[in-house]
Amino acid sequence: MIYDLIVVGGGPAGTSAAITAVRNGARVLILERGIFPRHKVCGEFVSAESLDLLARLLLSQQSRLLQEAVRIAGARFYIDGRVLHTTIIPPAASIARLDLDAALWDSAQHDGVDTRQRITVQGVVGMGPFRVITTSGDFETRALVNASGRWSNLSPRPATNGRRTEKWLGLKAHFVENAPQASVDLYFFEGGYCGVQPVNPGTQSAGQENTRQQRVNASAMVRADVASTLPQVFACHPALHERSRKWQPLSDPVSTSPLTFLNPEPVRNGILMAGDAVAFVDPFVGDGISLALRSGRLAAECLVPFFRGVMPLPEAARAYSAFYRQRLAPVFRTSSRIRRMMGLPPLLRKPLLSVLEKTPSVTEYLVRKTR
Ligand SMILES: Cc1cc2nc3c(=O)[nH]c(=O)nc-3n(C[C@H](O)[C@H](O)[C@H](O)COP(=O)(O)OP(=O)(O)OC[C@H]3O[C@@H](n4cnc5c(N)ncnc54)[C@H](O)[C@@H]3O)c2cc1C
Repeated sequence: MIYDLIVVGGGPAGTSAAITAVRNGARVLILERGIFPRHKVCGEFVSAESLDLLARLLLSQQSRLLQEAVRIAGARFYIDGRVLHTTIIPPAASIARLDLDAALWDSAQHDGVDTRQRITVQGVVGMGPFRVITTSGDFETRALVNASGRWSNLSPRPATNGRRTEKWLGLKAHFVENAPQASVDLYFFEGGYCGVQPVNPGTQSAGQENTRQQRVNASAMVRADVASTLPQVFACHPALHERSRKWQPLSDPVSTSPLTFLNPEPVRNGILMAGDAVAFVDPFVGDGISLALRSGRLAAECLVPFFRGVMPLPEAARAYSAFYRQRLAPVFRTSSRIRRMMGLPPLLRKPLLSVLEKTPSVTEYLVRKTR
């Protein structure tokens, strides 16, 4: 059996590509090394730009996931002793990855994608057609989408040229908090930040945890020499420390590392990359899931003429690369500018923050530019 498309990785990017391709008549196999449902390090902020797409990807019986999601209509930035407020228009949704990723996986399976878990892709031979080498044997395919995430065995390692580079970690867990505000709160400190937002338990959480209590998700990106556990992160910011004192853990903490920012590369050796496999966008812009869903769909849409035999694979790949750079890449430039601004020495950052505090419209403009 030769597939039209094999997708590596069953996260938002991979399932979005697989569902789009199968709905366009392609024979699709998706390979995932893990098993769903599972917690994932993430702020769980799903930006409004991709909520319509998400609704179309999910099955109608999964619509409760979106209907019951907490809507996040505001953000508070706690930085250098100030609190900057901004509105988020239209509001984002807060959806636990435990529920979101499992729902997308089920939807792919329901639509006719050949879905296989606990299979790790070890290598790829060819530049179209491809032989995909896995822990469960080899598979043949005409086209390949690599949606294996930020740091997989299939991604090239960034060149360090012998330099010592900073190591960054991602950490996350759910906690009980009474009556949390429908806001994403970002607490910045030297060497990292932590986001906190309310999240509703979905059907997967219902099987695993006490779902009656109101909860928040706390997720941090932090330099490894600053903190390696969530309590250590909470201690880095006085307001967060105070807030977290009343929290009770609802899920085991999960962590991930390293976190590195590279330039987006949408196509490699004839393989269409999607989601974090293209490049990792700084989590504080809350756009990683949206970029994953949109790039997965875009990759599959660009492959449709190839599946139908009216376009060669290299041309479909070039079209994807051009669309990606035009429609999705600008967010990487904005987020790296904001990251540089946040990384300024406090003395230089102070006047900038003072402007933002006095003119919320500028903060709103910056938030819009990350969309
Ligand atoms: C601290 C932190 C906070 C974040 N907060 C947010 C947020 O609030 N909002 C937001 O939008 N984004 C956020 N993100 C980013 C977001 O989590 C990612 O952008 C998103 O998960 C990317 O989806 P993906 O499908 O590309 O990759 P993933 O979700 O990582 O999925 C990749 C899948 O591929 C599988 N895989 C890997 N290698 C192989 C292999 N060789 N064979 C088979 N399977 C393989 C993995 O098991 C995984 O399931 C955050 C990230 C971090 C680190």
